[in-house]
Amino acid sequence: MILPIHLLGSPILREDTVEVTPDMPEVQGLIDDMIETMQGARGIGLAAPQVGRSERIFVVDVSPMAEDFLEAGLAMPEQPMVFLNARITASGDEESEFEEGCLSIPDIHETVFRPDRIELEWMDGSFKLHRAWFDGILARVIQHEYDHVDGVLFIDHLRPLRRRLLKRRLLDIQEGRVSSDYPTYGHGIGLIAADPVS
Ligand code: ZN
Repeated sequence: MILPIHLLGSPILREDTVEVTPDMPEVQGLIDDMIETMQGARGIGLAAPQVGRSERIFVVDVSPMAEDFLEAGLAMPEQPMVFLNARITASGDEESEFEEGCLSIPDIHETVFRPDRIELEWMDGSFKLHRAWFDGILARVIQHEYDHVDGVLFIDHLRPLRRRLLKRRLLDIQEGRVSSDYPTYGHGIGLIAADPVS
């Protein structure tokens, strides 16, 4: 089932999340719905708060970027990937820049600096524990989604001047003056501006 995506201004994007456990009966269905929602919106990652949920879950599908992997000489693990209760356990010293976007912040793309590699500990959809280093595109997408389950958005990483220049456009999204080609939550009903833009 495709779920509506919460946009900037929806309070759930900033709320605390809870770890998931195998005895939570709704987790498998939620994972399936999140993958369907991500792919339906042509996103390469989606986190639970973006569909109005507070579990520490995110999904990734970088298969649309197969060519970039090929060019960078990187192997692509089987997609989509499911990350439950993920924890970044180490980061590389180098930073890289990349133009990011977000299904919750339509039509805004900005350069964000992040560590170019991370070590992650997580459980997959079968609650099997993994620990691995990621670099390149996967390190980037995973850090963006990981931020979401911590209530952080990519615009939080922008320099104050850059964010000030985006203020009007961010306010438009918060107040529902935005269009997207995927279903969004509360669109057009006037969301409460829970996200002070400065
Ligand atoms: Zn996002």
